[in-house]
Amino acid sequence: MALPPSDPASHPDFPIHGSCACSHIPYTVHAPPLNVQCCHCIECQRETGSAFATNAQIESELLTHDGPEPEIINTPTPSGAGQLIARCPVCKVALWSNYFPSGTGMRFLRVGTLDARAQKIVGGPRAHIFLEEKSPWIDVTGFGEGVKQYQGYYDDKAEFWGEDGLRRLKIFEEKEKKKRDD
Ligand SMILES: [Zn+2]
Ligand SMILES: [Zn+2]
Repeated sequence: MALPPSDPASHPDFPIHGSCACSHIPYTVHAPPLNVQCCHCIECQRETGSAFATNAQIESELLTHDGPEPEIINTPTPSGAGQLIARCPVCKVALWSNYFPSGTGMRFLRVGTLDARAQKIVGGPRAHIFLEEKSPWIDVTGFGEGVKQYQGYYDDKAEFWGEDGLRRLKIFEEKEKKKRDD
């Protein structure tokens, strides 16, 4: 039987840590993220005040925090569904968010909030998405070999996620379905 994604023995570099700017909300990541992506969409530019957002996608139970709860801010999205952004209630830095339709079971961690050691372990993006909206001065050709480029969202899912990623996504989807059915 395949190891569950949270089995610590299969991820010797983990757990890793991060926090908001004022350290009010330290958090722990227990396994490698499913994906790290740079989103160049115009909303991510506006929300970060920068050229793109860098998010690590990970199951919520593998990204935990002890102590104070983040403030959950429903932030508008073009689809109207909204994005729930978890922010430190003191310094207001965004830590992670939940997009729909992934639901609350999947978190999109703001990679820049990881500490320096953790960022080395997580590494750079595996994909650039929504390049059709990117800042005109960004040139993604210099981001390294094998980093995928998409004008919008992914179009070759199986190839992108790989075997382990697809296995974890399947577990996630089954859990979400069970949550909806209960
Ligand atoms: Zn803070
Ligand atoms: Zn975006």
